[in-house]
Amino acid sequence: MAARIIDGKALSRRLREEFRGRVGKLATQGVVPGLAVILVGDNPASRVYVGNKVKACAECGVASFHHALPAEASEAEVLACIDRLNADPAVNGILVQLPLPPHIDVRKVLEAIAVDKDVDGFHLYNVGGLVVGNTIFPPCTPYGVQLLLETTGTEVAGKNVVVVGASNIVGKPMALMLLQKEATVTVCHAKTRDLAQHTILADILIVAAGKPGLIVPRMVKEGAIVIDVGINRLADGRIVGDVDFAGVKEKASWITPVPGGVGPMTVTMLIENTLRSTERAHHLRKDDDYQDCEAPAVKAHADN
Ligand code: NAP
Repeated sequence: MAARIIDGKALSRRLREEFRGRVGKLATQGVVPGLAVILVGDNPASRVYVGNKVKACAECGVASFHHALPAEASEAEVLACIDRLNADPAVNGILVQLPLPPHIDVRKVLEAIAVDKDVDGFHLYNVGGLVVGNTIFPPCTPYGVQLLLETTGTEVAGKNVVVVGASNIVGKPMALMLLQKEATVTVCHAKTRDLAQHTILADILIVAAGKPGLIVPRMVKEGAIVIDVGINRLADGRIVGDVDFAGVKEKASWITPVPGGVGPMTVTMLIENTLRSTERAHHLRKDDDYQDCEAPAVKAHADN
């Protein structure tokens, strides 16, 4: 039986609608949430990503402040820009678009962002929060995946989850989040021997390697949930994920498409984190003491 599609676009739409309501509530208190985006250089893909983030802000009523610095900008200039934004009360979230030019120390830049404005969740403090299960800002892509999984109505606790990819921005935080939800998590990477012997055991398979066609049907367990984080542009211009969608959808129970699966959710969760930050700054959240990480309400497909 063909898999059901996990529709990231539809969930994003629903969440953004909910965000507009939260923005409206903030407006009654004279508060406008603000997200600052710093782009260094003119990497075309980065420009597109920043454009999408600015557009999503406008759609939800969040103010965006775009800081474009030239590729030759020094590390000190980037740090000074972050300092100004840390001190600006109109800014509730700060995002530095990666990658940065090679002369800039990425860690130094990420550590300079105020922890309570680190809406990407990449500051060491936030990463540490994730490790001990006390997240301040869940990193956007894995956070989006977590909500997509919730829409399937599947209980994650006790499931075998295999994450293919171990990057700091997707694979590792994804594994930590699902471990926190009591899944049994295996993380695979480029040096994993015989990838298929791991993936075939997955009740939930999450793939974030950046390798088109990496996951083929024989590597997937019948009835598995398959989440494809990969975004790859082929020579003919098509955008595909890391999973052979046409083949794997005949074996999986649920699958995300590319595009239209994880991608839209990443930007949506950035807005969620910005609202979360704004509500905390104005004492409008219960988790001001950063004790929990409550996801916005997600309706399971089964309820629709
Ligand atoms: P990355 O930093 O390049 O990391 C890729 C990870 O995959 C690494 O851990 C690497 O292993 C592993 N890997 C590479 N080849 C592999 C193979 N043959 N078998 C098993 N593991 C393999 O990439 P990333 O930033 O995590 O992004 C991964 C993909 O997700 C990319 O396609 C990216 O465009 C996409 N992405 C999508 C979104 C979204 O919103 N949908 C957001 C972020 C990223 P090593 O650690 O051993 O090198």
